[in-house]
Amino acid sequence: MTKDRESLQLILNNAYDAFVSMDSKWRITDWNAQAEITLGWCREDVLGRSLDFVIPSHLRKQYLSELFKFFSSDSEDILKTSRDFLLAHRDGKEFPAEISIFKVKEDSDFKYYALIRDITERKRSNEELERLVQERTEKLMHSNEELRQFAKIASHDLQEPLRAIQGFSELLLESTQGKLEKDPTEFIEYILDGTKRMKALIQSVLLHSEIDSYDSDACVTNCNSVIEEVLADLDQSIKDTGASFEVDRLPKVAVERSQMIQLFQNLISNSIKYRNSKAPMIYITAEKNLNQWLFCVRDNSIGIDPQYSDKIFDMFARLHGKVVYPGTGMGLAICKRIVTSHGGRIWVESELGHGSIFMFTLPAVKRQGELK
Ligand code: ADP
Repeated sequence: MTKDRESLQLILNNAYDAFVSMDSKWRITDWNAQAEITLGWCREDVLGRSLDFVIPSHLRKQYLSELFKFFSSDSEDILKTSRDFLLAHRDGKEFPAEISIFKVKEDSDFKYYALIRDITERKRSNEELERLVQERTEKLMHSNEELRQFAKIASHDLQEPLRAIQGFSELLLESTQGKLEKDPTEFIEYILDGTKRMKALIQSVLLHSEIDSYDSDACVTNCNSVIEEVLADLDQSIKDTGASFEVDRLPKVAVERSQMIQLFQNLISNSIKYRNSKAPMIYITAEKNLNQWLFCVRDNSIGIDPQYSDKIFDMFARLHGKVVYPGTGMGLAICKRIVTSHGGRIWVESELGHGSIFMFTLPAVKRQGELK
């Protein structure tokens, strides 16, 4: 044996993979120590035998025909099993294995070399991992759904006593008109104002809890017509503030239309609401990155201190008092929910006094489903 051959033999005998070499007729010519462990047969027992005894009898015909078919050509080749092969241990137990078989021309004949790895443990831990992930996902989905239901029911139930407070406060105000001092009248008006705000809060919590993306894969929403509708809805405040717009040609997205309206409405109405002393200018653009769209809504508003860039997307987060800028603090939380429930991301880049750029990503409509 040459020095090279000896070293190779040493490596193969100490390898973690079972190594089997065979002649042109698939008769075993070598069988390393790991092959003895993996397949249970001693080297002496198998030398000269054809390899088929390591294949479980019920799979033998199928595997051998696949094997011979693969190596039928008259050239060197490598077969790597992409799916798990089942092999049989000497004790009869079957196990999943990963196999590479090399067909190599040596002298004038072909030889076959096989590396075999028992992947029982790997498969078991993969399956266990998958089971755990599945279990956790189900638990998470369950608790999400419970939370959604809770928010929905709580919001519905809260509306009822609120309606009573509002109704009776209005009656009280009407029936005491001109009979009460200034202060008590003002107090009733505060109550009414409070109920109005509470109503808006409850409705936005309800809206937030109802956002989902269950059927969104089938949706094809044209953002150009969404913007048209939003601008028509905001017509009065656009006229009042002299707001101007530049809107790119926008794509279609796989998001329910009502959610896209909500998303743009919240962002655009914020750009108008948080305007500085000049008339609002709003630019809306979209560009494609791989299989998603990046939307930008840029304005010349009062801007946002970067330290609050994340916080403003939380529920009820507001940076201003309700007198100067009325609102519930739910608008951006709703935007975030719409975007993230579709696998996207939303963020803001801004500086106080320098306008803001709200950016978000959404999945592109799959080509097949795209409407003309
Ligand atoms: P709301 O407008 O009801 O307060 P949002 O969730 O829509 O609630 O916004 C949260 C906060 O983010 C606002 O209170 C405001 O301070 C800030 N903000 C949102 N949009 C803009 C904008 N375009 N320019 C400046 N500040 C903004």
